[in-house]
Amino acid sequence: MSVTPVDPTQPYDSDNIFAKILRGEIPSTRVYEDEWAVAFEDIAPVAPIHVLVVPRGAYVSWDDFSQNAPAQEVAGYVKAIGNVARQLGLVEDGYRLINNIGPDGGQIVPHLHVHLLGGRTMGPMLTGQ
Ligand code: 5GP
Repeated sequence: MSVTPVDPTQPYDSDNIFAKILRGEIPSTRVYEDEWAVAFEDIAPVAPIHVLVVPRGAYVSWDDFSQNAPAQEVAGYVKAIGNVARQLGLVEDGYRLINNIGPDGGQIVPHLHVHLLGGRTMGPMLTGQ
């Protein structure tokens, strides 16, 4: 996998790895899907539960999505993230959502995704420098 940070202003690249996962060209362990979003296990989990929730639509980043997605699609995606957490039984103990945007955010894959982390206490919000 390339570790080049995403330029959040770049046009959408339909050959990105999550686009291929959405099309079923690359295998993934799906845990949820609906009209608006698909969720699958992260290939390199950093918590007992580490799921990526991606919109079906072609958006590079949260910036792209929040500017350009129709309201119905925004609502569908936000609700899907909540549905995934509930389906995984994470509400009582809690969980963490992370969205990385661009170089400072640490975004590597240029298709919008929210990391849903759970199954342990997450600790401080940031541990990097
Ligand atoms: P980012 O840094 O862009 O927010 O996070 C990208 C995430 O995608 C990383 O946590 C990485 O482990 C995950 N990832 C990268 N390639 C693949 C893949 O081919 N399959 C899955 N399931 N996850 C991937």
